[in-house]
Amino acid sequence: MKRSKREAKIERFFASERKRLVRRKIKGRGIRDKAVLRAMKAVPRERFVPENLREFAYDDAPLPIGEGQTISQPYIVALMIQAAALTARSRVLEVGAGSGYCVAIMARIAEKVFAVERNETLAAELGPRLAGLGCQNVEIFAGDGSAGWPEEAPFDAIIVSAVAPHIADPLLQQLAPGGRLVIPVSRDDGEQRLLRVTRHGEERFEEEDLGGVKFVPLIGEEAFAPST
Ligand code: SAH
Repeated sequence: MKRSKREAKIERFFASERKRLVRRKIKGRGIRDKAVLRAMKAVPRERFVPENLREFAYDDAPLPIGEGQTISQPYIVALMIQAAALTARSRVLEVGAGSGYCVAIMARIAEKVFAVERNETLAAELGPRLAGLGCQNVEIFAGDGSAGWPEEAPFDAIIVSAVAPHIADPLLQQLAPGGRLVIPVSRDDGEQRLLRVTRHGEERFEEEDLGGVKFVPLIGEEAFAPST
């Protein structure tokens, strides 16, 4: 079989696996946002994982992406994006872009996605990977995003994809009125909770607990200190 034919066959296989994952594990577990479901059916997760792990791309599980980091579990990505309540006019920030998988899904829903990644190796791979998938409405910054991206604020939504020790005030201040911050925070007992904070007024915020989660640590100025 010619390479292109073989590749096309593999792509079709992945597309059917993807549909199954979305039906069973995303919609099946209660994600209702149609734009999220549509985008998850479209973004090829196999392109965001290392070549040798491609066969596991449609397991509903996190996978290693190198540099001691992981690509998030699809259901959790869907839950976070649904909680961020994106529209076609949203400007959204992701802190901890990692593989860029969550960025690519949000880029299909929102007007513009700002992505910050602290690890230089991972950050350098983001641009080419997203461009290769036709993502044009994304800005990438390689560095510490624990205090947000003040130059590009305000944001309609901020998603933090690594666990923080507390909710940093600069992130709250970078929310537009009505804006949503979705962030995992670790409690004193070590358990991580996914929180959504909605900005109702200048200094009026509502906090909701969306459940238990497991993320790698957010490291930076407004987060945990680096271990070395
Ligand atoms: N949504 C990503 C998750 C990657 S894991 C995906 O699905 O691929 C979390 C990422 O947060 C890691 O890549 C880690 O390097 C990054 N990170 C940790 N602290 C950070 C910080 N202060 N600023 C930006 N990125 C950070």
